[in-house]
Amino acid sequence: MTNLILFGPPGSGKGTQAAKLVAKYGLLHISTGDLFRYNLKNNTPLGQEAKKYIDKGDLVPDSVTIKMLKEKVDENKNVNGYIFDGFPRTIPQAEALNILLGEENTSIAALIALDVDDEEIVKRLLERGKTSGRADDTDEKIIRNRINVYKNETTPVYDYYDETGHSMKVKGVGSIDDIFARLCSEMDKLV
Ligand code: ADP
Repeated sequence: MTNLILFGPPGSGKGTQAAKLVAKYGLLHISTGDLFRYNLKNNTPLGQEAKKYIDKGDLVPDSVTIKMLKEKVDENKNVNGYIFDGFPRTIPQAEALNILLGEENTSIAALIALDVDDEEIVKRLLERGKTSGRADDTDEKIIRNRINVYKNETTPVYDYYDETGHSMKVKGVGSIDDIFARLCSEMDKLV
């Protein structure tokens, strides 16, 4: 199994690149953001709980997020590997993921971070907000909160995997295909 964490700030292109990686490497894409949006759309109890946080650009509590992620992994065991997108976003989430994968005798092959600067992110998210229907993409204050949450709560996850030599950065600016080529050159070393 090859398990990848696709990492990076909001709007860094994780969803776009994950779809291309799935097509090329046959991995299963698990996006906690997509799972939450599915629950919001269907107004499930999980969606109602998550909405309070998502609307402000804050993180949903670990207990809720980890349980949702674990269920998704448990439902999809016979795969070549996973691409985790938007997870883990905190150290407790990373620890939970390690335990979960350890139970399956597997682990994270690499964390690849898409490197994009703040002003480019704000620009991209406001642009995405015009068509995405995502409330969290339309208000610059909420966008800037998400960037701060990323810096304060999520970047420690990069360092956590870096300690064991599993973290790397890829330039996330340029054409979609150029960024994909950079990701593939890292992926090809792993698979
Ligand atoms: P972004 O476009 O900001 O990367 P996502 O689509 O991944 O955002 O997630 C949207 C929102 O869902 C986040 O702002 C957060 O509130 C919530 N969320 C997603 N993944 C997680 C997670 N791993 N832990 C806590 N909250 C999460």
